[in-house]
Amino acid sequence: MDLQRWLGRATHAIQDWADTFGPYQPHPSVLVDDDRFGAVFEEFTGRLKDNYPFFHPHYAGQMLKPPHPAAVVGYLTAMLINPNNHALDGGPATARMEREAVAQLATMFGFDTHLGHLTTSGTIANLEALFVARELHPGRGVAYSEDAHYTHGRMCGVLGIKGHPVRTDSRGRIDLDALEELLRTGDVGTVVLTTGTTGLGAVDPVDHALPLAERYGVRVHVDAAYGGFFTLLAGADGPEGLPPGPWRAIARCDSVVVDPHKHGLQPYGCGAVLFRDPEVGRFYLHDSPYTYFTSAELHLGEISLECSRAGASAAALWLTFQLLAPTPEGLGRVLGAGRRAALQWADLITASDVLELYQRPELDILSYFPVVEPATLTGIDTTSARILANGMSSPDPVFLSTLKAGRAAFTARHPKITADAEGARILRSVLMKPESEHYVEHLHARVEQLADDVRVAEARPCL
Ligand SMILES: *Cc1c(COP(=O)(O)O)cnc(C)c1O
Repeated sequence: MDLQRWLGRATHAIQDWADTFGPYQPHPSVLVDDDRFGAVFEEFTGRLKDNYPFFHPHYAGQMLKPPHPAAVVGYLTAMLINPNNHALDGGPATARMEREAVAQLATMFGFDTHLGHLTTSGTIANLEALFVARELHPGRGVAYSEDAHYTHGRMCGVLGIKGHPVRTDSRGRIDLDALEELLRTGDVGTVVLTTGTTGLGAVDPVDHALPLAERYGVRVHVDAAYGGFFTLLAGADGPEGLPPGPWRAIARCDSVVVDPHKHGLQPYGCGAVLFRDPEVGRFYLHDSPYTYFTSAELHLGEISLECSRAGASAAALWLTFQLLAPTPEGLGRVLGAGRRAALQWADLITASDVLELYQRPELDILSYFPVVEPATLTGIDTTSARILANGMSSPDPVFLSTLKAGRAAFTARHPKITADAEGARILRSVLMKPESEHYVEHLHARVEQLADDVRVAEARPCL
């Protein structure tokens, strides 16, 4: 789709609607003439060049990419009206779009009933889920794996509840024996499971944790902020298909969070929280009977902790979902390409003499490190950092990210490495753009070259 054409159509569509209300005089205090704007705009676009090319397949670093053009048009068009999804009165159209988009997310996760809404981020979405968890299990803590997002520990502090980090196994997933040991104490009221950790994309075994949670009478919240849309690849044909167990089990959990601003093609400002039991809406209110929440008309401001929220976010998500629905045939194809890219690169690294996989990717996040002599954590750390820096400043640039791997986690995966430090930075590439699929060979060749160059530079005596 032609972004310029549709942005033009957007301004016309809103202007035509505005004109039906009759003419009015804009106030001189807000008038800006085009020449002055032009000068400022020049400076503005110049300053925006201080960025990394998140859109380009040569950017294979953090979980960043621009939104889909449909989301941009949806956001900008609605923003010209600027509805506030805090309340139905703030924007009836976008409040309805929010409800429909959230219902599509509920269907994706297999929830048969739900109460949910968009949030400005995964952080706030998780805060809401933990807030409801605290109301249901007052005085009991929250368990999450030590590889879970740091927000869980922090939000437990905000909510005044005790957080219990649980050790992970050698693939970065919550250790179920350690979890059960903790549940036996009775101190925990809620378990957070992460389907796709932010660092490595490790998927906690939701299907195996659920029976434990049931046995000990604890709630289960799934943090699928990063990985939620990978549900669309559960049991899919082809190399991108994921083992369905953990993903299908989300349908039986109490709440789930997903970030459309990560894998849902949206601009920042779009998270979502969904509860399976609509009755939890009562915790958001002081005095309204819960039956209110089973009525057809959801008042979004009364079921969320945030007040003002961009209706434009809901508009962007709704419009995107009309074109690329959260179904295997829609958004699933986008995620499938990134997943295949990760698998393909993992195979290239496995066959490489200069790079080694940290662990096999479960989703589309690749973790790897340079082979160094002698094989020490210190050597891996400095070489990884050099590859990252040299890659960005090269005339044929490649953008990666680093991840700090702790000593115990590293040696659990690679016992032969000499653990001469507390940990090491390793290289990490999030392949969340479908375009990555056709650039993996180039990326791999570039990173191998960068690793080789660092080796040669180190072997050369100082002059
Ligand atoms: C990104 C992320 C969060 C935090 O979400 P924001 O949208 O960045 O606030 C929480 N949990 C996981 C697993 C994430 O990947």
